[in-house]
Amino acid sequence: MDTYDVIVVGGGPAGLGAGLYTARRNLKTIILSETLGGQMALAHIIENYPGVEPISGIELSERMKRQVESFGCEFKLARVAGLELKGDIKKVKTSEKEYLAKIVIIATGSHYRRLEVENEEKFIGKGISYCATCDLPLFKGKKVAIIGGSDSAVNAAIYASEIASETYLIHRRDKLRAEEKNQEQLKKTPVKIIWDSVVEKIEGDKFINKIIIKNVKTDETRELELDGVFIEIGEIPTTEIVKAAGVEVNEKNFVVVNDKFETNIPGVYAAGDVIGSFAQIVVAAAEGAEAATNAYLYLKGGFYGERKPTDYGEKKVS
Ligand SMILES: Cc1cc2nc3c(=O)[nH]c(=O)nc-3n(C[C@H](O)[C@H](O)[C@H](O)COP(=O)(O)OP(=O)(O)OC[C@H]3O[C@@H](n4cnc5c(N)ncnc54)[C@H](O)[C@@H]3O)c2cc1C
Repeated sequence: MDTYDVIVVGGGPAGLGAGLYTARRNLKTIILSETLGGQMALAHIIENYPGVEPISGIELSERMKRQVESFGCEFKLARVAGLELKGDIKKVKTSEKEYLAKIVIIATGSHYRRLEVENEEKFIGKGISYCATCDLPLFKGKKVAIIGGSDSAVNAAIYASEIASETYLIHRRDKLRAEEKNQEQLKKTPVKIIWDSVVEKIEGDKFINKIIIKNVKTDETRELELDGVFIEIGEIPTTEIVKAAGVEVNEKNFVVVNDKFETNIPGVYAAGDVIGSFAQIVVAAAEGAEAATNAYLYLKGGFYGERKPTDYGEKKVS
């Protein structure tokens, strides 16, 4: 059995950010991940990672991996199938072998809820997006639709109305779930709301050019010519294995952490989309770094749970 100071589960930006910070603290670290880069690797083009000019998600993922490895952090492609987290030494199991560590950092991310309609997969990155913050700037002066009725859908529609030439908000019900304040804001925009409607099909050539929508009350269908469709119907956190190991999750299945990124189990930390953060690469990487630094302090000083001033920067946790 291989023994480490730190095992990071997940090799997206949160996991890579965590590995970078623990390895630079000379903690023996391995990142175990099913994929390199996680959702970041799916991004066609990333324009909002500070200091990095537009870059593909795959290239940014490879750069992050090279950087962590340069500090001695190991990266292994493997699916973690089980965790034993209670006790001072944690056990992490893949199909091939078992690993031991004093610290486990959970960075298993989440995935966007799909519409599950025809051609959806085919056009991801070719007009279909699940992240308005990431991709809307690429649709300047274009016609777009946002699908959903939550705060994130309404916020995306408001944002789109400032960028796109025409914006539709398509919702399957006759009222929105978003907060009143957001709805009031939406009313001040030229966004056209299409009520009681669902997307039946997405069509296009290299990129999407139209969608077919159906009114669920009348069964009538119509075509809508569009350049972009933003699906904002929620995220599903990847928490099955951590839940099974006794890590606390909230009602939406995101891992619960305190302001030190500690879970309910001492020595177990979580960061990034898996804790329901603002789903952005810069945020995930930063949270990974903070979780890693708190894990280092825990190993050195034994602090867990209590709110103590930390030794990074001037931040005083009060
Ligand atoms: C198409 C697309 C475009 C995007 N564009 C941008 C953008 O331009 N800018 C931006 O800031 N953000 C963008 N995002 C959002 C950003 O990619 C995510 O917020 C970010 O990747 C979350 O990082 P994370 O490390 O928390 O999780 P993830 O990136 O989801 O990584 C989780 C990792 O955990 C691994 N994992 C899960 N379960 C296991 C297991 N049991 N065993 C081993 N490994 C496991 C996964 O394989 C994956 O590698 C985009 C997202 C998508 C989908």
